[in-house]
Amino acid sequence: MNSKITLFLLTMLITCFGIAQTPGAPSVSAGPPINPDKKACLTPEQRSDLIQDIKVNIENLRLDDKLSFSEQRRGNHPLFIWPVQKANDVTFNDFYSIYNYVDHNSGFPNQLTDFNCGTRTYDTTGGYNHKGVDIVTWPFPWKMLEDDGVEIIAAAPGQIVFIRDGEFDLSCSQSTTTPWNIVVIQHSDGSVALYGHMKNGSTTTKIVGDMVSEGEYLGIVGSSGQSDIPHLHFEVYENNVNGVGVDLIDPYSGTCNTMNPDSWWQSQRPYSDPKINAVLTHSAAPSVFPPCPTSETPNLSNDFETDDEFYFTVFVRDQTVGDIISFEILRPDNTSLFGNWNVTVQTTSPSWYYQYGAYTGYFEMVGEWTWRATFGGDTISHTFNVTSSLGVDETSFNQTSIFPNPFNDVINISSSSKVVKAHILDVLGKSVFSIEDDSNGIIEINPSSLSNGMYFVRLESDTNEMKTIKLIKE
Ligand SMILES: [Zn+2]
Repeated sequence: MNSKITLFLLTMLITCFGIAQTPGAPSVSAGPPINPDKKACLTPEQRSDLIQDIKVNIENLRLDDKLSFSEQRRGNHPLFIWPVQKANDVTFNDFYSIYNYVDHNSGFPNQLTDFNCGTRTYDTTGGYNHKGVDIVTWPFPWKMLEDDGVEIIAAAPGQIVFIRDGEFDLSCSQSTTTPWNIVVIQHSDGSVALYGHMKNGSTTTKIVGDMVSEGEYLGIVGSSGQSDIPHLHFEVYENNVNGVGVDLIDPYSGTCNTMNPDSWWQSQRPYSDPKINAVLTHSAAPSVFPPCPTSETPNLSNDFETDDEFYFTVFVRDQTVGDIISFEILRPDNTSLFGNWNVTVQTTSPSWYYQYGAYTGYFEMVGEWTWRATFGGDTISHTFNVTSSLGVDETSFNQTSIFPNPFNDVINISSSSKVVKAHILDVLGKSVFSIEDDSNGIIEINPSSLSNGMYFVRLESDTNEMKTIKLIKE
């Protein structure tokens, strides 16, 4: 890691003194591993215990005359909404990536077929074929767990037939022996949905027998039970004439879905769904993969001074080799490009991130900058503020103007302060004109040698006030 940082600092130095606006290669790019040793989300014993417990609960509800829906199939199956949503205070563009679908190939091990005839699923040497959809929090899964960042909601209305809470929720291994926290909902057609791996203490305050509506809060995404990263395991059974836990379905319709012909989603999301989950700025390098289960340290910041360190990240999901991700940095005038570059994706991965840093003195202009990325057909922008590191409020220098603007040769400077430095920068941030006069102050400059176009003039007073003004040469 240290050598990487050194290399990157070196790259940064070269870039700063070379072409200031173009960062080098990203210093880090990696996706989080999940379930590398291919263990089931539940042990066979846990699964049979769970199914037995659900059966007992349903039977008790029936005896108490509180069972709302028979497990005999009647009516149409529900149509699900997406079972997770971000909490109100989470500003990420998106917050999850799918790691595993249901395995339709009953053979094992490594005989994998998801609904789309791909292999985005897993099985085990012990004969477990993945029975649900694993929706993994991304980015900062552990921090999001800590902050209640991703909520599990009822994909369809129904009756709570099982809840378990109080179990350890920071599991780092599929070999964990503690059970998962889970809520199970039975729908009007008798089908049931399992929402597994919830955060300890997060499950709904409702109890078995209570009804929930579509979209109602059920819990927080956690890492309880056999899990090595915060995720929701969503598993669905239909038509339980044979008993709960027998007739597994896959809510996704697809050519290789051997379980059910039609989709159970109101709006089925794409098999692969390339997207930018977050475009962020940081005051220090974020810790993205601390040792499990340490919460990540995002070091998020949107406010910088010119000599502060700046780090930039973009978190994506479903990137495929050969994809292009475009990055841009825009100046405070929001039209001129400070820098732009493309990355060609080298590794297919459900989750990945790109980090650039550290820069100091990189952004020489004060104001609101924009850091943005384009991928998967979307451009996501993130703004950050840069103020002068001289500790001067720029408004204190506001009795300053230049004329004429547009200009041809001489520019007059009118200011209530004594202007001692004037620099002109081109749109790429390169200094193209510079003058200093500490004794008399500067009241006019003559950059007539510049070619026509847009520039920025940065003025500094004898009391270190700064002001930057957009300038047009005609
Ligand atoms: Zn799973």
